[in-house]
Amino acid sequence: MRITVEEKLAVNKYFVDEGNAHIEIDPAYPDMKENMKLINACPAGLYKLNEDKTLFFDYAGCLECGACRILCVDTIIKKWEFPENTMGVEFRYG
Ligand code: SF4
Repeated sequence: MRITVEEKLAVNKYFVDEGNAHIEIDPAYPDMKENMKLINACPAGLYKLNEDKTLFFDYAGCLECGACRILCVDTIIKKWEFPENTMGVEFRYG
């Protein structure tokens, strides 16, 4: 049986800290090359382009891999922290 990435990600449990985003971005950063880095690199597909070319981001499904931080900490990423204790992703395998 073939399992898609989306199905695998859906098995994880996410404890979302609604009052404290652990990642914050500049959604109107003007360099499209920077936007595309995030859109292409995030393994959870959390960065998307809005119709007006601004960046849409939802931290709720974050896998805490740090790729966006490495790629754009000096440009689009304005804050990157691990979620508070007991919050964030709980990986489930199998
Ligand atoms: S830390 Fe990883 S999963 Fe989370 S938003 Fe950044 S690239 Fe996506």
